[in-house]
Amino acid sequence: MQEAGDPGGKSVDRPHSCEVHPGVPASITCPRCGSFACSECVADSLWGDEVCAACAARGALEYPLAWDKGDEPWPLRFWKATSSIVFDARQVFPHLPPGTVLRALGYAVSVEILVALAEVIMLLLALTTRRAVIPGTLALLLSDPVLVPLRGFASATLIGLTFHGIAVLLGGKAPLRTGMRAAFYLRAFDLVWIPMQVAAFLPFAGGILTVMMNIAQVAFQGWALSMLARGRYGLKAGAAVAAGTAPIAIAILAYIVLQLGRVLLAYAPLT
Ligand SMILES: [Zn+2]
Ligand SMILES: [Zn+2]
Repeated sequence: MQEAGDPGGKSVDRPHSCEVHPGVPASITCPRCGSFACSECVADSLWGDEVCAACAARGALEYPLAWDKGDEPWPLRFWKATSSIVFDARQVFPHLPPGTVLRALGYAVSVEILVALAEVIMLLLALTTRRAVIPGTLALLLSDPVLVPLRGFASATLIGLTFHGIAVLLGGKAPLRTGMRAAFYLRAFDLVWIPMQVAAFLPFAGGILTVMMNIAQVAFQGWALSMLARGRYGLKAGAAVAAGTAPIAIAILAYIVLQLGRVLLAYAPLT
């Protein structure tokens, strides 16, 4: 007699009972702990991995993020990881795979380099079509490729640290690198600023689009971090939403304070 195993799972050769439900035939042998699990006790993922419910509760399901695996050429790895983070965030963040902060930082560096390049190209276009004031554009051309990545890293570091701190304060348990890795991978959303450079040329719609994209980016990050708080820090729904949204609110406040500081400095009487 042979049990029909679920597709993708390791089927059981000989009839074994589920270790939670005696008498119920097991459908898989858990690849993590080797225990027998019936179809009710199997936790399956959308990417095909199957483990027993106990292992799933311990966070055994790990999203196969292409960037973390690192066995493909850069453009392919970057493209796959970006589409996973942006379009499959619901699966990526609760099941964020373990790995080094350095690797996630490498992803964020790639994003910021692409965004800075797009800024330079658009500024050069603005210069050649004389749609911008030349001295101001030159200053931007020189400062933006440095300032844009710096702003991205400062923002990711602040969000990662405050998210981890708040999640731990609320009773969550995960290493600091989990929060930092998520914050760096979330820079993926900065890529929307590449098409937005074009929208900035539209006089009225450009401004509205920019505001809408800012709001969408902030909401997306808060949502992704809330799912990370549930799946990886083990927080309950309410606490997870608080842990996900608080660091974003703090980052926005920090940004507003910085902008106010800049305005005040610009208008401060020279003494
Ligand atoms: Zn197991
Ligand atoms: Zn069972």
